[in-house]
Amino acid sequence: MKTIGLLGGMSWESSSEYYRLINQGINRKLGGHHSAKSIMVSVDFEEVKQYQHHGEWDKATGLMIEAAQQIERGGANFLLICTNTMHKMADDVQKAIRIPLVHIADATAQTIKEAGVKKIGLLGTKFTMEEEFYKGRLASHHGLDVFVPDEEERQLVHDVIYQELCLGKIEPDSRRTYQRVIQKLVDKGCEGVILGCTEISLLINQGDVPVPLFDTTALHAEAAVAYALKDERLALHDH
Ligand code: GLU
Repeated sequence: MKTIGLLGGMSWESSSEYYRLINQGINRKLGGHHSAKSIMVSVDFEEVKQYQHHGEWDKATGLMIEAAQQIERGGANFLLICTNTMHKMADDVQKAIRIPLVHIADATAQTIKEAGVKKIGLLGTKFTMEEEFYKGRLASHHGLDVFVPDEEERQLVHDVIYQELCLGKIEPDSRRTYQRVIQKLVDKGCEGVILGCTEISLLINQGDVPVPLFDTTALHAEAAVAYALKDERLALHDH
């Protein structure tokens, strides 16, 4: 079994989900008392959030590279960045390490394609919903038609992530807001919706909405389990 490297803390609320899902996944495959071999470096999210919201992306990239190199030195065989947003600098991180990075959007897109879904809604931070690093990859690498909510709704979705979910607050009103936003994406023709922020599954579950949900946390964790147990299809670069 390979050792899984986890770059976490963004936020720790979702990193603890990754840890649980990965260990459960390995145990489901191997049984007994098997659990995942893993190394996590968990950053201080306040620092990351300040860089993001002040547009100091070079500093954010430096912090991510440093953490990734720490994970590599610790002996991990491959790396997961445990957040969608911070895949903005995934290519820079990959260039700075020798171990492969398993990209969250590729892990997610693979399952979407297997489900036969093409028109897909995307919820996440404004960075993820508005910039090309994520939507663009889903379209150009995977041929998906990606829909995002309108501007006002994007702000609502974004604010719930930073002001509530990353702080472990789960509010029924916000669940209703997300349900409304998802329904509008369905009305626009979306056949499914990506929970493109690793905390959203703390708020919304499949039972809350009428179309299939693609939970990036669960799908990324699943990809890590498969890769740790030898399925290497999803790595960007093999070494
Ligand atoms: N966990 C979130 C994501 O998946 C947001 C936190 C962050 O800014 O990294 O995008």
